[in-house]
Amino acid sequence: MNGSTATATTDTASADAERAAGESRPDYVGPPAYVGRFAPSPTGALHLGSLVAALGSFLDARKAGGRWLLRMEDLDTSRVIPGCSDEMLRTLEAFGLHWDGEVEFQSRRTALYVESLESLRAARRTFECSCSRRELAEQGETGYPGTCRDASTRCGPTATRFRVKADEVVSWMDRVQGNCQFDMGALSDPVIRRRDGVVAYQLAVVVDDAAQGVSDVIRGADLLQSSAWQIQLQQALKLPAPDYGHLPLIVEEDHGKLAKSRRSLAIAPARASDQLATALGLLNHTPPAELQQSPPDTLLAWAIAHWNLDRFQNVKKIVVSRPMSHV
Ligand SMILES: [Zn+2]
Repeated sequence: MNGSTATATTDTASADAERAAGESRPDYVGPPAYVGRFAPSPTGALHLGSLVAALGSFLDARKAGGRWLLRMEDLDTSRVIPGCSDEMLRTLEAFGLHWDGEVEFQSRRTALYVESLESLRAARRTFECSCSRRELAEQGETGYPGTCRDASTRCGPTATRFRVKADEVVSWMDRVQGNCQFDMGALSDPVIRRRDGVVAYQLAVVVDDAAQGVSDVIRGADLLQSSAWQIQLQQALKLPAPDYGHLPLIVEEDHGKLAKSRRSLAIAPARASDQLATALGLLNHTPPAELQQSPPDTLLAWAIAHWNLDRFQNVKKIVVSRPMSHV
């Protein structure tokens, strides 16, 4: 009894000494170098593909001892479903994917985007595009032929496009896909403000990543070409470029992308452990059998400890042999 009292006294004394020593050091040593993020659109329930993207960015951030931020990409109010973002937050929590800090909503940040748009305009890196919706739909997101690039007259409402440096090849060392190169002439000029006035994804994401100090973007390989545009936008706005890592896309056997518009199953908090284990398996991090039915926090702790991007180096697609509806 005496012995344990003595030990307790010694512990208290040493804790006091540590505290005293600590007082000479600054309390605040700055944010951790690594900041990651997950940025879903509240336009439909999270599905297995979005769970994989969330997990990839979460595990990479936690493995690095970094922060993991959450951002709602809700600028397109015509597509936002009321209550959807709240449900997403509840689902992420049920899956043990706890974020740091306040959730950001793009819809509350439009002033920032407009400021950047104006600065691109002032630098003559934009032009107005009056191509009709139908013409644009036919062109798709890439391959805009530059019809309005140097036009002297335009009729009707216009969208604003970012004038890319068409003679450049944008390249970066992707943390998953390795060396990536995009010929910007072929990629052409992306819309950064739609004709209905909504600031487009490419500009908003660049402004937000910089404003939030994001150091590492881990997302699906469907956004590879967006990264090329975003890198040129960062350069034009004199913003730092994060490191990118593009995870393989999870596709069904018919090669359709696993997305909300398809029959992909929504993930369900009641099946969090099952679905987490499945998503980890798709990410080539299958938990050991004895852990498969563990609570989400246990599965995630295992996954953080074992997380290794090398497990899918240069893999752009993971084709699952059966539709995901059985998950
Ligand atoms: Zn045009």
